[in-house]
Amino acid sequence: MPLVRDRCICLRITEYSETSQIVTLLSRDVGVVRAIAKGAHRKTKAGAGKFDGGMDYLEVGEAVFIFDPAKEMATLTEWTLREGHLALRNTLRGIYLALYAGELVDRLFELHDPHPEVFDRLESTLPLLATDRREQAFLALELEVLRESGYLAELDICVECGRPAGGTPMSYFSAKLGGVVCRDCEAVVPDRRTIDNRLVRIVQGILKLPRHSGTTLRLPFLTRHQTDPINRMLADHVQHTLGRGLAMGRWVLGNS
Ligand SMILES: [Zn+2]
Repeated sequence: MPLVRDRCICLRITEYSETSQIVTLLSRDVGVVRAIAKGAHRKTKAGAGKFDGGMDYLEVGEAVFIFDPAKEMATLTEWTLREGHLALRNTLRGIYLALYAGELVDRLFELHDPHPEVFDRLESTLPLLATDRREQAFLALELEVLRESGYLAELDICVECGRPAGGTPMSYFSAKLGGVVCRDCEAVVPDRRTIDNRLVRIVQGILKLPRHSGTTLRLPFLTRHQTDPINRMLADHVQHTLGRGLAMGRWVLGNS
């Protein structure tokens, strides 16, 4: 079986036994990979040696794993830490957003479906989540993940009547129909949530911005006053699509 060596981001760690862990990695070349890390606990000498002191979620590292695409579980044999994101770990909002992003990637992509541009985006966004640019950086990442996974909601036309958003204000969002709804269609779409048309425009604007090696250029500065309703709207859509919401949602989305 082939041995893969690749740059990875650790999305999730699950305790498996006294000595082993199951890690969910985003591998740049392979996509989402689940791997068993035998003896990975920090407290054991072997785990500390092979896995560079033990692994932690959101770390970026060089991983070596035994990989068979037909099998759900790979075997992690080495982990060399490259970036531990210590600044991020001191920012509660930043760490919540990072964990939410990790969960989104884990849930929206199939196993072993490579998306190097999503990897680059996540890797370049994690340090920004420790700064005051975190809200817009997170939103750009979230939109990229939704677009690349094919789960982006319809934001350009009314999902009920098909009118373009440019001419008509879109003041509602329907998770069931998967997109924005214009004022005229309000009455016939029962599951609508109200959304400020200016926020819809912000999202449309970000989706059109130029991108370069994993970042969106010229992102506007956004506050939670703006991003909370946008994130809730996108979370509604994800929840409707996947059949259940993300566990980190309650820590990220504020009160709706
Ligand atoms: Zn309409």
